[in-house]
Parts: sequence; structure tokens; C-alpha cells
Amino acid sequence: MSKYEWIPSLWLETFGEMLNEDNELDYGDDWNLTFNYSQTDQITKEERKRGWKVYSHCAHANFQCGSCGKTWSSARVVLLFRYRLRGGRGTVIMRPFGQACRRCQDDQFDLPGFVEKEVENALQRLFSKIRKNCYAEEDDSDGGSSASSIKVKTKPHEASLCEGCRMGICCQED
Ligand SMILES: [Zn+2]
Ligand SMILES: [Zn+2]
Repeated sequence: MSKYEWIPSLWLETFGEMLNEDNELDYGDDWNLTFNYSQTDQITKEERKRGWKVYSHCAHANFQCGSCGKTWSSARVVLLFRYRLRGGRGTVIMRPFGQACRRCQDDQFDLPGFVEKEVENALQRLFSKIRKNCYAEEDDSDGGSSASSIKVKTKPHEASLCEGCRMGICCQED
């Protein structure tokens, strides 16, 4: 499995493991993860009424250009989650934001690839939000992002190459 590739099954499997083996959301509800590659962080009044919430996570990820094969990594990769709990059914919809190749400058946003630890990190944070907002648990997260705890040298963030920045929802640097 390449750490440069966007692999939805890695997310689905980790999501399932964390729920079924680690009992991250131990309330007897059925939670599912799906993907939507065009959703935004905007929640309409209607959606809010129907229980939708948004969580945006800043992750560390790796990329490979689809045209020239160049690879790079970034500590500012946005993962946007929408979630809600309704009638015993929990739904999480995820969108990963891409980055474009600095060499090609072709406006093609390549999707991020993750190592398993980063996937666990992001989902851990998401589950903690869900426990707080859907089950009224105390928030046990420290509020920081996973990216800050990982010491990897990355080039300065270039807004013009970042899909999250283009949409105005990129994560902030600490
Ligand atoms: Zn390229
Ligand atoms: Zn950005």
C-alpha cells in the first residue's frame, strides 16, 4: 500500500476497527463512513435542523503528482467531515482536500495519501467530537491538531497549490 495514494478502504477499515475493536463510540448506535468529494464546510439551517455538524481536521499527508510522478508531503492537509446521529444511525461523510504539483502548476489537485497512524489520529479526533456533540460527553481532546505533534520538515505551505486554501477552509498553522 503506497503512502502517496488516496486509499478509501484504509479509512473504512480503520473506522470499523476503531468502532468494533476499540469501542470508540460505545453507545449501541450504528455508525457508517462514506465519501463525498465536493462537499463544503457550509451547513444550511435545514441541515443543522436535521442534525448535521461539521468537523475540519488538519492532517499530515503525502502526495504524488498524477502527471510527473513528483512526491511531496504536507502538514496542512484538510479533512472535512460531516456527521450526524439520527434514529440510532450515525453517518460520517468525509472529504479529503488535495494539493497541486509545484512543478506542473496544472491546477490538478492530487488526493492525499496517509500512513495508518495519521488515519487513526484523525478518526480519534473525530470520534472525540462526536462523543461531545452527539452524546454530550466531555471533550477530552487537547484542541491541537495532529500535525503539530509530528516533526516532519515540509516546504512552506503554498496557498495557490492547496485546494483547501482555494476554498477558504484550510487549516491554520499553529
Ligand atoms: Zn507534477
Ligand atoms: Zn492550504
